[in-house]
Amino acid sequence: MNMHPKKPTPSHLAYLPFVSVENMMKLVHHVGIEEMLRDLAGFIEDDFRKWPQFDKTPRVASHSDVGVIELMPTSDGEMYGFKYVNGHPKNTREGLQTVTAFGLLADVNTGYPVLLSEMTVLTALRTAATSAMVAKHLAPRGARTMAMIGNGAQSEFQAIAMRAVCGVDILQLYDVDDTATAKLVRNLSDQGFSLKACATPEEAIEGAQIITTCTADKQYATILSDNMVGAGVHINAIGGDCPGKTELHKDILLRSDVFVEYPPQTRVEGDIQQMPGDFPVTEMWEVITGAKAGRTDERQITLFDGVGFAIEDFSALRYLRSKLEGTGLFDQLDMIADPDDPRDLFGMLQRAKP
Ligand code: NAD
Repeated sequence: MNMHPKKPTPSHLAYLPFVSVENMMKLVHHVGIEEMLRDLAGFIEDDFRKWPQFDKTPRVASHSDVGVIELMPTSDGEMYGFKYVNGHPKNTREGLQTVTAFGLLADVNTGYPVLLSEMTVLTALRTAATSAMVAKHLAPRGARTMAMIGNGAQSEFQAIAMRAVCGVDILQLYDVDDTATAKLVRNLSDQGFSLKACATPEEAIEGAQIITTCTADKQYATILSDNMVGAGVHINAIGGDCPGKTELHKDILLRSDVFVEYPPQTRVEGDIQQMPGDFPVTEMWEVITGAKAGRTDERQITLFDGVGFAIEDFSALRYLRSKLEGTGLFDQLDMIADPDDPRDLFGMLQRAKP
């Protein structure tokens, strides 16, 4: 794909590549979902390694009684990216999704956007790739069994990424809504997993080395209580991701080593919002660079309090851009006014008079 957004004709347009939902789905099938999740995990890990170089800010959130709308910006100095994303747990009851998103990548040198994309599908992919990349560093060696609590939109992506990156192939499933679990079983039944639908969260956790909680409820929920969690497991807690929305009893946090993306955001949004402001956490990028320890013994409980950080979306957009060339899986949007004489915007408007 041409790096520069300018196109020769017509002269007032600087076309912007745009990836629609339809093209995103085609791209996933073109690349193959497991390969895509592995590659994405690699891009995210590379950007975590360069963490200090990024502009970082907690996401800008606009809360309402029923949900949240957020902007997530970051830059590595060469490219700038942001994502618009919502989180509305009540939406599924109205036939709408809990999470939808789109995002943009721009060239820091010119400020011109270079890619606009749907990010609802891409968010599910990048969230799953992040969970799996983190589990690769923290989960017990040889983990094959994962409890998947919350079987909604993110769940299949989580499962496939955990297999692609970590080798997890046995899934024990629980959701308060049986139809969500039935949907997950239907979707993954021919994908080579061993699948068990469970009647209780306790049954789902039994014997699992990785526990993923991915539920949506705008409250302080207790998806896992302390007595349910045995020594040595890795907890991938990604559903508690805004103020007033948590999944774990705080006694679990006290028994675990907690790993986070960006503390100023996680302390407000993650499960650790239940803890004092100086509650000890380890930043995941420091585990990846080797500056801090991850899992150090087999009885340790590692807990990834994942809320989703802008750098993961930036990595996902960067990956997407790298994959588009030669696929034709994008449209060209007439979104940037670009007069031949950059100071004659008005003249450009006049010449367009019908
Ligand atoms: P979804 O609404 O499609 O699915 C959520 C599922 O959780 C539903 O099937 C619901 O029945 C189930 N559930 C609710 N309460 C439960 C409980 N007490 N026990 C078991 N199951 C329960 O939502 P989704 O798109 O899959 O997202 C799930 C959560 O993950 C949301 O809270 C979302 O905000 C969050 N999320 C986090 C990240 C991140 O980066 N950390 C990214 C995307 C989504």
